[in-house]
Amino acid sequence: MIVSVSATAASAAETVLRRLSLVGRTRAGLSEALAEIGVPEKERRMRVGQLWNWIYHYGVREFDAMTTISKGLRGQLAERFSLDLPTVTAEQVSTDGTRKWLMRMPSTGPHDRGAEIECVYIPEVDRGTLCVSSQVGCTLTCTFCHTGTQRLVRNLKTEEIVAQLMVARDRLGDFPNRQPPEGAFVPNDGGRFVSNIVFMGMGEPLYNFDGVRDAIGVITDDQGLSLGRRRITVSTSGVVPQIGPLGEEMGTMLAISLHAVRDELRNELVPLNKKYPIKDLLEACRNYPGLSNAKRITFEYVMLKGVNDSDAEARELVRLLKGIPAKINLIPFNPWPGTKYECSDWDRIERFSEIVFRAGYASPVRTPRGRDILAACGQLKSETEKLSARARLMLDEAQAAAPAVAAE
Ligand code: SAH
Ligand code: SF4
Repeated sequence: MIVSVSATAASAAETVLRRLSLVGRTRAGLSEALAEIGVPEKERRMRVGQLWNWIYHYGVREFDAMTTISKGLRGQLAERFSLDLPTVTAEQVSTDGTRKWLMRMPSTGPHDRGAEIECVYIPEVDRGTLCVSSQVGCTLTCTFCHTGTQRLVRNLKTEEIVAQLMVARDRLGDFPNRQPPEGAFVPNDGGRFVSNIVFMGMGEPLYNFDGVRDAIGVITDDQGLSLGRRRITVSTSGVVPQIGPLGEEMGTMLAISLHAVRDELRNELVPLNKKYPIKDLLEACRNYPGLSNAKRITFEYVMLKGVNDSDAEARELVRLLKGIPAKINLIPFNPWPGTKYECSDWDRIERFSEIVFRAGYASPVRTPRGRDILAACGQLKSETEKLSARARLMLDEAQAAAPAVAAE
């Protein structure tokens, strides 16, 4: 069910012309903005600190609300920049509380009408997890993943990654002293709203290393959004040379999309395996900086009927992971139109899980969340056309007046 559609042809067209948003920028990015409007260098550091606090701690949407900054400077900033968030073109709430936002990113220049991506929020008893995207589409072509079939691919910019969290906090009413936007669904059960972030939306985060690293820098900054690095998980299909640098430069939790225990099958499911086979991947995992029992690696394993779900494969999985502090996450396959795979039967998943569990691994089966709104793994964006036909129609009208997003 689509519960709110806020895009109009006019607002999307306006996106093309509007001032660049400061939301999502790093400290260096804010400093550049100040330099552009002539703020003297010796003053910039202090001004960046002020902007940072207003943008990331208070989530303000107007320069005029920045009362510690002089009226004159506020005016100069407002003339050149905005504090816009991506436009939420559709917000859907699942019966299980999962929320999915379809967002159009602010334009980054006259020839960009802004990338369109989805972001999913999954509330649980003790946490709220936001599943963010790192790219529009994905250049990798894992055969069971619908994102890999998308034609348009580009890296999301740092600001576009951070903006996903900003939108979530805005829509959940999670900024101090700020009223949530009209029509937003604010949870009324108290507690933290977004406590964890997983890079498990669209894209391969390690192919957008710098963008993801800088976004994590903004998100974890303790003067602002202040999320702990251990509450952030980066999931990769196995870009081996970047796994060490991920640990060193980002210090987040690591998840590996393993999905097969033999190279022959993994070559088919995750074609990147041909470049970085299982042995090399597991070696990189063993060397992951900071790895310990308190900081385990999550191995994701999608359950594909008759493909990778036998008892022998469960035993081999356990053998392969020996010596690596690990969690194993069994993901029921989420089918999409045209896929050749099916999800394993429930008793098969249970049996597989039991073998893994008996070997001493926690092996939670990831409960499919948000199935009614197609927000489950691998379904992000893929069915958007069908689900938000009305939003599409409106955007199509706007697109007639704006150039299309080009693949980068
Ligand atoms: N590109 C990264 C992160 C995004 S994919 C990666 O591959 O790890 C996030 C997770 O969803 C991955 O484990 C991926 O294998 C899984 N996934 C993709 N399509 C799926 C589907 N149709 N059903 C279940 N899980 C899927
Ligand atoms: Fe890309 Fe991950 Fe999908 Fe593979 S599973 S195509 S790496 S998003």
